[in-house]
Amino acid sequence: MLPDSEFNFLKQLVEAPSPSGFETPAQRVIKENLAPLADHVKIDVMGNMMVRLDGRGGPRMMLAGHCDEIGFMVQYITDEGFIYFGAIGGVDPHLSPGQRIDIHSANGVIKGIIGKKAIHLIEVKDRDKVIALKEQYIDIGCGSREEVEALIQIGDPITFSVGLERLQQGRITSRALDDKMGSFIVSRVFAEVKNAGGATSELVCVSTVQEEVGLRGGTTSGYGVDPDVAIVVEVTHATDTPDVDPKGIGRVEVGKGPVLARGANINPVLFNLLVETAKQEEIPIQIIGVPRATGTDANSLQLTRGGVATALLGIPLRYMHTPVELLAESDLQAAIKLLTAFVLRIEKDQSFIPL
Ligand SMILES: [Zn+2]
Repeated sequence: MLPDSEFNFLKQLVEAPSPSGFETPAQRVIKENLAPLADHVKIDVMGNMMVRLDGRGGPRMMLAGHCDEIGFMVQYITDEGFIYFGAIGGVDPHLSPGQRIDIHSANGVIKGIIGKKAIHLIEVKDRDKVIALKEQYIDIGCGSREEVEALIQIGDPITFSVGLERLQQGRITSRALDDKMGSFIVSRVFAEVKNAGGATSELVCVSTVQEEVGLRGGTTSGYGVDPDVAIVVEVTHATDTPDVDPKGIGRVEVGKGPVLARGANINPVLFNLLVETAKQEEIPIQIIGVPRATGTDANSLQLTRGGVATALLGIPLRYMHTPVELLAESDLQAAIKLLTAFVLRIEKDQSFIPL
């Protein structure tokens, strides 16, 4: 299990509301944590946070995790005070009816619920149907549009009203582990490398934004940082629940270690070095094949400028994009250990050209 200080940092980060385009509260948590350790902190106009540790002439290494989360946005308020909303990122409309939500307004958090007609009132033929997101509405207890408009504005972001909790056997659950646990891991690696006296490589940890709406922060921060190597830390689908078919994904189990992807999006020299590091350090890993572009920041980063050596380190996650995402703390710890050892072992003349 994570030590208390690390668990609290993760909890604070996950619970800071940060739907894509509204990431400032999460970036503040990371800045508070890392600025005292950094040689340089930069935030670009998109909101990407880049924290740098000077090296000793080695390659420039970027570690990236995205701090944005999926959510909703206020779009339309009826005269009776009901609020219609759109999705920020890939939200499953099965999940939202009957849930508590937080609207993040200029006046602070406004509590609300996503209304749902009572089962008694639904025609039998309609009971199995999914309610389209644009038919769902929020009730904050107000009785008119004027009352609502005094509290919130069109365009305010919304999150599910749930936070981080520990379950059994070192497993944790929350909304938005995708991918704030990624920015948590790269932040922890940054602190570990700093404690070890720095590395030969220049290390730039980036908490990227707007990943869930099209890898947007990864694209611009990659260009800005101009790294030689980029490792992205992301959630990856666990296939160890009864309703998920491992065919087409691979065997991925929660608690069996972080997952390294292979395929066209991944530099083979970098992949081999990561596998070798895991072996030497006796860190358990799992491997999946991804024969196409990964749907992660590793894709935009690989295609930056003249090309970047990229790798993707996944943390097995059940129930992705639900308010009850689940992962194992031991997988987070193994990922931190692996990346720290990897950053520290890279020498000045390390080439990533696959020939
Ligand atoms: Zn993600």
